[in-house]
Amino acid sequence: MKNIGVLTSGGDSPGMNAAIRAVVRKAIFHDFRVWGINYGFAGLLNNDIHPLEIGDVGDIIHRGGTMLYTARCEDFRTKEGQQKALQNIEAAGIDALVVIGGDGSFRGAQELTKLGVPTIGVPATIDNDVPGTDFTIGFDTALNTVIDAIDKIRDTATSHERTYVVEVMGRDAGDLALWSGLADGAETILIPEQPYEMEDIVHRLIRGNKRGKKHSIIIVAEGAASGVEFGKQIQEKTGFETRVTVLGHIQRGGSPTASDRVLASRLGAHATELLIEGKAGRMVGMLANEVVDQPIEEALEASHQIDNHMYRLSQELSI
Ligand code: ATP
Repeated sequence: MKNIGVLTSGGDSPGMNAAIRAVVRKAIFHDFRVWGINYGFAGLLNNDIHPLEIGDVGDIIHRGGTMLYTARCEDFRTKEGQQKALQNIEAAGIDALVVIGGDGSFRGAQELTKLGVPTIGVPATIDNDVPGTDFTIGFDTALNTVIDAIDKIRDTATSHERTYVVEVMGRDAGDLALWSGLADGAETILIPEQPYEMEDIVHRLIRGNKRGKKHSIIIVAEGAASGVEFGKQIQEKTGFETRVTVLGHIQRGGSPTASDRVLASRLGAHATELLIEGKAGRMVGMLANEVVDQPIEEALEASHQIDNHMYRLSQELSI
């Protein structure tokens, strides 16, 4: 085996570039050739494949987004699409592949392993929703972006004595909301993993107001409710002037934090190591600050869990 391919797939996340760099440099260090595939699985179908040299991944470690571009590719879900991808992989002489992306991309990676192309998954998504790793690449950067935004919102919330509802990303996972809520001392955090009682939230807001609290921050995970709808209800039920901010795609961009760069470098390098050792169908991850790997199948069968202890703590600290 002498040729390794690398692609990024699904939603982009800060640190994907650092992961690409680690895959490429680690492979070249061990005398492998590396091929970059543009636009994720779509690039395999369209034969958008090019060699990557040491210098091609220079000056990207600090950049958000992905130099290989990313895409969602419906055709790759079909057997015909996968066969076409396989033909292009074989024609390019690629022996094994690293797929950098979320759990959806890992399903695609699994299909390639089943077709005989050894593939390793590197978890990269701001949602932090991939089982088998404590953190996904990009989560820490997105979290810091959210915190920076909420700090600014807090200034204006204090000045105008308003209630602010901030909707954050995360798809079906509440990690971004929970971590940013705890880090920013939000009064209420709404996450899809925990049911909520509107009456309870309203009661807490009114109680806070009575003891002299002039503003409140409520974090809503996009998977739990619409921030706009929730804000309307809060204003109706409390009578407090309420504003809503939907942070949106700002959360996906920006220079990766040191933490994400280190995570991406360690996980990207480990993925390449596994391929060099002849392993396939595995995902790399970070558990208790140790680089680990496990079968992708096992990770995909597990469901993402929120840290319930952390959720309870956030409630205790926001009395
Ligand atoms: P994020 O969570 O950040 O959006 P993701 O990797 O979960 O990232 P998805 O859109 O779920 O993003 O998946 C990315 C791509 O992976 C899909 O567009 C498709 O090409 C491929 N894919 C997903 N599921 C499968 C599957 N079951 N079989 C083959 N390919 C798949």
